[in-house]
Amino acid sequence: MFPTSTRILIVDDMASIRDLVRNQLKVLGFTEIIESEDGVLAWTVLENQYAQANPIELVISDWNMPKMKGLDLLKKVRSSQVFEQLPFILLTSEAEREQVTEAVMAGVSQYIVKPFSGKVFEEKLKTAYQKHFKK
Ligand SMILES: [Mg+2]
Repeated sequence: MFPTSTRILIVDDMASIRDLVRNQLKVLGFTEIIESEDGVLAWTVLENQYAQANPIELVISDWNMPKMKGLDLLKKVRSSQVFEQLPFILLTSEAEREQVTEAVMAGVSQYIVKPFSGKVFEEKLKTAYQKHFKK
């Protein structure tokens, strides 16, 4: 599992979902949490945190957002030399489920279909961690 000191970026255009994810992370003991409301702002946070030697270590991003969708943010991250290995979890709705193949092709670490339980959330985090660090 990710250490509780992991710096996590939550990206979602809905404040209620950001709160939900933040609360579930807090329950699991995580304390280093930053939020963004769309993919464009998220990219700025990724670059700024990296420049300050405080890089984001896990992204949990919504799929459907204005400006830059989660899938496009994922593709941008994976095509960047700096962030290509960054663990990246996508939150999808049922409607987006059919597009998940594209996210898998683009290198998503895990995806979580909304709504989700705390148990599923924890399992997905564990699986994402193993995918990146227990090869
Ligand atoms: Mg959304």
